[in-house]
Amino acid sequence: ASFPGDHSGNVMPRQTPGMLYSDTTPTPVSAPVLLAWSEELATELNIAAPDETDILIVSGNQLNPSMVPYAACYAGHQFGNWAGQLGDGRAITLGEWEKPDGESIELQLKGAGPTPYSRRGDGRAVLRSSVREYLMSEAMYHLGVPTTRALSLVRTGDQVMRDLFYDGHPAPEPGAIVLRAAPSFLRFGNFELLAARQDKELLQQLTDWTISRYYPHLQGTREEKILNLFSEILERTATMIVEWLRVGFVHGVMNTDNMSILGLTIDFGPFSFLDDFDPDFTPNTTDLPGRRYAFGAQHTIGYWNLGCLAAAFSPLLESTDELSARLEKYKDIYLDKYYAMMAGKLGFDQLKPGDQQLIDQLEQLLGQIKPDMTIFYTLLEKLPAALQDPDALVEYLSPSLYDLIAPETSKAFWLIIKRYQERLQLNSISDEQRIQQMEAVNPKFILRNYLLYEAIADLEKGNNEKFSRLQQAIKKPYQDLFPELNIRRPVWAATQPGSSTL
Ligand code: AMP
Ligand code: MG
Ligand code: MG
Repeated sequence: ASFPGDHSGNVMPRQTPGMLYSDTTPTPVSAPVLLAWSEELATELNIAAPDETDILIVSGNQLNPSMVPYAACYAGHQFGNWAGQLGDGRAITLGEWEKPDGESIELQLKGAGPTPYSRRGDGRAVLRSSVREYLMSEAMYHLGVPTTRALSLVRTGDQVMRDLFYDGHPAPEPGAIVLRAAPSFLRFGNFELLAARQDKELLQQLTDWTISRYYPHLQGTREEKILNLFSEILERTATMIVEWLRVGFVHGVMNTDNMSILGLTIDFGPFSFLDDFDPDFTPNTTDLPGRRYAFGAQHTIGYWNLGCLAAAFSPLLESTDELSARLEKYKDIYLDKYYAMMAGKLGFDQLKPGDQQLIDQLEQLLGQIKPDMTIFYTLLEKLPAALQDPDALVEYLSPSLYDLIAPETSKAFWLIIKRYQERLQLNSISDEQRIQQMEAVNPKFILRNYLLYEAIADLEKGNNEKFSRLQQAIKKPYQDLFPELNIRRPVWAATQPGSSTL
């Protein structure tokens, strides 16, 4: 990056006008221990197994001479309100690493101490949230969802004070640091910041740089390139959200500072997978009762956020008419992707007339019955041809059911499933091919919130058995590697406290 930096080394929270980032050095920790290392990512990056020095680097205790660490400055809309300047309050980019294929990957420490953007925060991360980010970003990768990655997880040996989400009292917790990786961590908020500052020159510079570096294939005049950039970000955002819906992922904090300019799932905080299929499910306790970022609201929030990005690009355009027109294409683009994705989950060879209606009706009923989403789709793959009556259907689906179903609902369900089976008869692919197609898009293993919760509780006590097992399980989500993990959420976990953001 060749932007004007801030070389003062000052770590006080403050505004940084004219700046896109501030030079920031990680604050050393007392006794770093490596808890996890992603072999897959290391191989992709061509990084050898970590030695003592590497562990010091991924703990923020040592810098490689070629590193010029910095914290990025960005703004954002949080829960629908303009929040002004935010910035990397606990993330510090160490530099970029070139992969064997020539692609550059930004390596960023999360939890390595305060930055100029920490405001009242300590710049640290707790083990709990770090394990969640490490496992979940790698889980998303193996599921095939566009995401940032994580290379390492270290326990720092220091304690961090946090309001524990289950009792609200500040308590010390073990600290940790994740080294995360992505081609770029640029967010919608980086552009919103410059538009809000009315710093058109820097906005133009950042936009040109983003195009030349991450979207070099875009064609046209300078203005056309910006429009095309917007369209491609829109397209990628829609794809990312449809992928979340495919696997049942709720991000939890879709603020515009958490929206990647590359359409990657970024900033893993109070996320959760769905257990029971509930479109209103909102894992983020700070998002109640509004449920702005509920599972079933994510695609509309995508549109809202893209509206903020369009507003940020608009100072660079003579007229915003074309930009608005491109934004308005979101709904159709999203719906096309959504129904294509659902056709895949349901085993349709293609979308035929009437399929969209069938999908809508099925989803609506699933929202009433609330079966376990993952288990339901897995069972659907080998649905028996002859289901005599609603009871036979309910019996077959029972491994996915949390609640009793009212007789009129199971009748409606049975009728829809019969229509679904009739529709499968129209497929031009064989049943074996259909099952293969479904197995490739319907995961058997998802990183359920309660599994994370259990693994973290054990890890905090020094037992890493469950954590290790999850590290294995996330690598093969389309296989039934650990059948004991691929069952309904246990009853005790239904009343388990929600997730916290920090
Ligand atoms: P998030 O909700 O995780 O996207 O965070 C919102 C903002 O708060 C970002 O600017 C973060 O960098 C900042 N932040 C969150 N936690 C901390 C922390 N412990 N110390 C400093 N800044 C933080
Ligand atoms: Mg964030
Ligand atoms: Mg966060």
